Amino acid sequence: MSEHTTPTDGQPIVQMRGIVKRFGTTTVLDGIDLDVAQGEVVTLIGPSGAGKSTLLRCVNGLERITDGTIEVAGERLSYTEKSLNHLRARIGMVFQSFNLFPHMTVMENVAVAQREVLGRGKDQARSRGAELLERVGLGHKADAYPDNLSGGQQQRVAIARALAMDPAVMLFDEPTSALDPELVGEVLDVMRALADDGMTMMVVTHEMRFARRAADRVVLLADGGIAEQGPPEQVLDSPTSERGQAFLQQLA
Ligand code: ADP
Ligand code: MG
Repeated sequence: MSEHTTPTDGQPIVQMRGIVKRFGTTTVLDGIDLDVAQGEVVTLIGPSGAGKSTLLRCVNGLERITDGTIEVAGERLSYTEKSLNHLRARIGMVFQSFNLFPHMTVMENVAVAQREVLGRGKDQARSRGAELLERVGLGHKADAYPDNLSGGQQQRVAIARALAMDPAVMLFDEPTSALDPELVGEVLDVMRALADDGMTMMVVTHEMRFARRAADRVVLLADGGIAEQGPPEQVLDSPTSERGQAFLQQLA
């Protein structure tokens, strides 16, 4: 169990209502209702192809929903350029691939969007960058280039870069899936510390240890819908749906 508390009052940070997503004639998400409260850590699990990535991509507007509504931090998502830019400045996203800018140092990677999107001055961006690199344990790598870092270090820089926007919510899509097994722990540790600090997070992962230790809620997606959701131990140890039982059985 995580140590931070989840407020039960107030507006959710993410509010999804009746989310339908189709690609052509294929319905990937079929009426999802999902709220994420401030400070809540929601882990999304489910079989490959269940729509986990699509759901996250809908939250930050990378995919356009077919039907339903999404609000992030009280703002309803529409698909104007202005709304999308505003939304994406409030959302941090970390992908399986680290996507750092290879020609920039670690510090430049962490500073660039602060300057270009938030309009921070050079000194302010660097000092916030230094703080965040410290937080992910990489204060000493500010002047290194991504190529000279391990995958785990690169992913931690990617997390620092996303945090530099002071996001209302952080989205993680299988952030450790591309890493060598011995590098997974250092990234999960950083994510766990973030969770303990009260960051609002939606995390797609196959790391059930993370789900158990850091998630307030586990949501199991299958067949376009939420097959099961609840506290980690309830969903992971005593799933009630057939889909949930089948998925968890195959993990064991
Ligand atoms: P997950 O992340 O749970 O493995 P995805 O969200 O990646 O699942 O994919 C869900 C389904 O949507 C899959 O069947 C996938 O092939 C399909 N899909 C995802 N993106 C696209 C796309 N851009 N065009 C067509 N089909 C897509
Ligand atoms: Mg995926």
